[in-house]
Amino acid sequence: MSARILNGVAVAEAIRAEARPRIQAFQARAGRPPGLAIVVVGDNPASEIYVGNKVKSSGEAGLAVRLERLPSAATLDDLLGLIRLLNGDRTIDGILIQSPLPASLGAGSQRVFDAIDPGKDVDGFHPINVGRLAQGRPAFAPCTPAGIIELLDRSGIAIAGTRAVVLGRSAIVGRPMAALLVARDATVTICHSKTPELAAVSATGDLVIAAIGRPAFVTREFIKPGATVVDVGITRLTDRARVQSLFGGTSRMETFQKRGSLVVGDVHPGVADVAGALTPVPGGVGPLTIAMLLVNTVTAAEARAS
Ligand code: NAP
Repeated sequence: MSARILNGVAVAEAIRAEARPRIQAFQARAGRPPGLAIVVVGDNPASEIYVGNKVKSSGEAGLAVRLERLPSAATLDDLLGLIRLLNGDRTIDGILIQSPLPASLGAGSQRVFDAIDPGKDVDGFHPINVGRLAQGRPAFAPCTPAGIIELLDRSGIAIAGTRAVVLGRSAIVGRPMAALLVARDATVTICHSKTPELAAVSATGDLVIAAIGRPAFVTREFIKPGATVVDVGITRLTDRARVQSLFGGTSRMETFQKRGSLVVGDVHPGVADVAGALTPVPGGVGPLTIAMLLVNTVTAAEARAS
């Protein structure tokens, strides 16, 4: 069997196209475009790539994007002060704090997300939005799991009545993913690093969402034949031998040769022979995360204007 590849790039483009008339209508009504503030603290190189993509994509879609940078030495008070300003700025509809925050902020990181106006919390990390999502009420859902639901729906993959297994229980992906799947009438199992017999549990899933951050960890024995597999993981591999063992003899080796590194997911390439449908990395979940940031920002702008 060779899995059907679920094209995240095309679905993300369709979502962006649907957002365009909403952005234009908002602009005509409010006299300004929806505004998104992206806050970056410090200089994490991986974050720079993600932020660059978010700024470019949101700007091209017609949002007014404001990039706010603080040095890595910024204190919790500096960051909370900036969030207060953005909360009070009527031209800003959405606020995104780029993760990870510097480790020096320690437990203060949660206070940063708690300080965002829940009506501008387009990442869905504020406890009010987390709670509303858990209650099955309308809420800003975190962009990655919200994008995965869009991808499944628009690819004609049923959710209701399926057994879904979510690998990973982070606040950003695993937990909100499970909440969204439950809300759509899936029967959901959440797995994590202490789950016994992980592969066997995973293989009960009609739908497997892999979000653990370990390259090629999810091998064939994790997957029931014909299951749909969504690969959320993003890891940049630079070890040639490792890349060769995973992708030797495929065109992905050429990409590695050119760039000296390769972005890979949590799902082993061999899963493509077992799964019924599979998201690629790159080109699967990543583009949807950015598209849903756009949608959440437009929704926030419309809600604040009404
Ligand atoms: P995270 O906060 O590190 O959480 C990882 C989860 O995986 C944890 O719940 C952890 O369990 C579990 N886990 C780790 N090792 C495991 C193992 N050997 N067996 C079973 N479970 C294991 O990561 P995250 O933020 O959710 O991100 C996960 C991956 O998705 C990363 O590669 C990240 O880069 C990627 N990501 C991609 C996008 C996108 O747009 N495509 C967006 C967000 C994240 P414990 O809770 O027990 O520690």
